[in-house]
Amino acid sequence: MKIFNTLSRRKEEFVPLTPGQVKMYVCGPTVYNLIHIGNARPMIVFDTVRRYFEYKGYDVRFVSNFTDVDDKIIKKAIEEGVDANTVSERYIAECKKDMAAMNVKPATVHPQATQEICGMLEMIQTLIDKGHAYVAKDGTVYFRVSSFKEYGKLSHKNLDELMSGLRELKVTGEEDKEDPNDFVLWKPKKEGEPYWESPWCQGRPGWHIECSVMSKRYLGEQIDIHAGGEDLIFPHHENEIAQSECANGKPFATYWMHNGFLNIDNKKMSKSLGNFFTVREIGEKYDLQVLRFFMLSAHYRSPLNFSADLMEASKNGLERILTCVDKLNDLEAKAEGAAETCGEQENMEAAGKLKAKFEEAMDDDFNTADAVSAVFELVKLANSTAAAGSTKAYVSFLNKTIKELCDVLGIITERGKEALDSEIEEMIAARQQARKAKNFALADEIRGKLLDMGIVLEDTREGVKWKRV
Ligand code: AMP
Ligand code: ZN
Repeated sequence: MKIFNTLSRRKEEFVPLTPGQVKMYVCGPTVYNLIHIGNARPMIVFDTVRRYFEYKGYDVRFVSNFTDVDDKIIKKAIEEGVDANTVSERYIAECKKDMAAMNVKPATVHPQATQEICGMLEMIQTLIDKGHAYVAKDGTVYFRVSSFKEYGKLSHKNLDELMSGLRELKVTGEEDKEDPNDFVLWKPKKEGEPYWESPWCQGRPGWHIECSVMSKRYLGEQIDIHAGGEDLIFPHHENEIAQSECANGKPFATYWMHNGFLNIDNKKMSKSLGNFFTVREIGEKYDLQVLRFFMLSAHYRSPLNFSADLMEASKNGLERILTCVDKLNDLEAKAEGAAETCGEQENMEAAGKLKAKFEEAMDDDFNTADAVSAVFELVKLANSTAAAGSTKAYVSFLNKTIKELCDVLGIITERGKEALDSEIEEMIAARQQARKAKNFALADEIRGKLLDMGIVLEDTREGVKWKRV
C-alpha cells in the first residue's frame, strides 16, 4: 500500500510500527456549531481509509478528538448565557448524529480536550524542563521554536526564513515572546472564561498541545498516521510535531495525510466566509449516503467543488448501484442452483479482476475515484450478465463482491437500513448506565425516546437487543 506523506511529499510504502496494527489520529472539529460539509470531508475520507485498512486485515486503533475549549465556544456560551460545557456537549451530540447518518464509524476513542488537562500540564512541564518552553511574566507558557531544529519539516518552511520574516512582527499582548514564531502552550484566563489551575497561572491550554497529549495517551508516543484537512499542516501539525518530538524524544507520526478542501465556487467552504452548508441542511435534501458517495468520487487530496449538479450525478450513480443490488438480491432468492450457463466462469474471472482493480486503486494512496469506477464496471457486468437463468453461485458471487466493496467505501447497499445504528447503540449504553445508577426515570425516558424512533428494546440474558418496529 502506498500513502502520500506530506512530510516527504512522496508516495511511500505503508510499513506499520507494529505488524498488523494501525495507530491513527485524526484532528476533529471545534464544537461550537453544527458541522458543515467541509468538516465532513476529512470524516468521510479518513473513515474510508480506516475501513480499507480493516478490509486488509489490520487492527485499527482510530482516535479523533473534539476541541471543546476554544474562543468560539466561549463566545457562543456568553451569547446564550450558558456555560461553555453546555455548548460543546450539545454540538458533540449533534456531530455524532451527523457522523452516524454519513455512516462514519465512531472512533475507538473520541477524547475531549477539557478531560485531558492533566496530561497537558505534564507535557508542558516536560517541555519547560527540557528547555523547549518558557514562562512569560503574565504566566503564559510559550514553546521555544528555535530549540527545535527540525521545525518547518512538515510544511517545508525554512526556519531561518520564518525567523527573519517574522522578527519585526510584534503582536499586542505577546511582547514577552522571545521570538514571534513561538506559540502558546498555556495562557492566562480572561474574565468569565473557563480556567484550570496550573503551576504558571490559572488559565487554559493552547490548541496545539491538546492533540499531542491525546494522541500520546490513547495511541502511544509514536503513531502510524496523523491526519486532517490541509489547512492544518501549518501551524497546527507543525506545532504538534515540535511539541511531541521534543517532549518524547522520538519521531511522532510516520505518515502525515491531508485532505484537500471542499470548495464552493472555487473558494474554501468555511464558517468565516459564510459560504457553507451544514450537513443537516444537505440531509434535508438528500440521503447523506449521497454526500458520502459525492466525497469519494474525487481523490482525497484534490480540491472538490460542491455543486447541485455533482450531487445529482452522485445520487444517480448511487441509485444505479442500489438497483443492481436489488436485482441481484432478487435473483439470488429465486435462483435454484441451475446448471452453469455459458460464460459464467469467464465472467466470474472478469469480476475477480475488477475487485483486484478496486484494491489496486485503494492501494495507490486511497484512490477512491478509481475504486468507484471499478464498482461501476462490476455493476455493468452484473446488469448485462446476471439473469433469471443464472446459477445461484454466480449471482451470489457478484452480489457479495459488490456489497463487500461498497462496505469498504462505507456505502450501505441495504435499502431502508439507516445509518443510525451507532446512535441507537449509544442511547442503549446510556440507558444501561442509568439503570446501573438506579436512575430508573432516566432509563425509562431513554427507552421512550427510542420507541419514538421506532426502536423496541428487549432485555435478554446476553444483554439488550433492539429491533425496529
Ligand atoms: P475545524 O473545526 O475548523 O478545526 O475543522 C475540522 C476539520 O475539518 C479539520 O481537519 C479541517 O481541516 C477540516 N475542514 C474545515 N473546512 C474544510 C473544507 N472546506 N474542506 C475540507 N476540509 C475542511
Ligand atoms: Zn489536532
